[in-house]
Amino acid sequence: MEEVRVAGETVGTYLRRQREIEGAKPTACGTPLRGSEAYGCARKIALRIGGIPEAHEPNNETLLAFKLGNTMHELLQESMHSLWSDFESEVVVDLRPLGFDMSGHADGLYSIGDKQMVLEIKTQSSFGFKLALKANKPKIEHVCQAAIYAAGLGADAVHLVYICKEGSYRDNVKPGQMLEWRYDLTDDFDGQTVEQIAMAELWRQQEIVDGVKDGRIPLRSCWDDKVNEFVVVDSPPPYQGKGQPWNCRYCEHRDNCAPLPTHEVSVALATPFIKHHWGGVDVAVEQEEGTQSGA
Ligand code: SF4
Repeated sequence: MEEVRVAGETVGTYLRRQREIEGAKPTACGTPLRGSEAYGCARKIALRIGGIPEAHEPNNETLLAFKLGNTMHELLQESMHSLWSDFESEVVVDLRPLGFDMSGHADGLYSIGDKQMVLEIKTQSSFGFKLALKANKPKIEHVCQAAIYAAGLGADAVHLVYICKEGSYRDNVKPGQMLEWRYDLTDDFDGQTVEQIAMAELWRQQEIVDGVKDGRIPLRSCWDDKVNEFVVVDSPPPYQGKGQPWNCRYCEHRDNCAPLPTHEVSVALATPFIKHHWGGVDVAVEQEEGTQSGA
């Protein structure tokens, strides 16, 4: 029997080309910060804003998983449109009037009674879904993203939906299984109100972009679910290798980050590659605007 990988390589090549044509996805309003990076690694966000080319690109499986996730998003948005007359999808959120250089697209906005809800949809692996099922709560980064959008839109609550994209006999979860939670902005989540979570993250992200404006690349720090806080990463594990934190194993900037010191570093003292490509925040915004006007 001859081993073939024609279909897999073809779809991978097709999706990779689409990704190249689309380029780096612009933020909704051409801001340096994007809401979907809530609780993201500070250094990774700074390298993206600074215009540093990614050191790694996603493999075929990851690209296909993104595509499947997008398809499920669209299906759920279409369903909401069909039954909820005031439902809006891909709602532009601009945080600049609140003083933050951030924007984004909320998956949905609709109302129940006099409450306006921001809908945020997340597709999950069987493992991630099992953890959420067991804890009966979503991840804090997803609550935070939705809460940031709610703050920007003046909404009252957030509605999180998890869709399981794969089945697992061992984890006792099925593809298509769903979990949902709703929180008012004044509700408690892990000891803070949902609104407090959003505001603290907005200030953290603003510090990152202010550092980029000054030519500073921040400390390596990733959110760790197990200890419920940001932890310093002394030595990032290899891309798609083994080790903790897992965030670095999937980080497209891993090989840009690893040669730098752990602590904050000035661009002037970074690697020649970073110094060469660093555009700072103004170039990042110009690129975003250029991409938008060409779209
Ligand atoms: S490798 Fe890890 S610490 Fe470095 S930028 Fe990526 S996620 Fe952050």
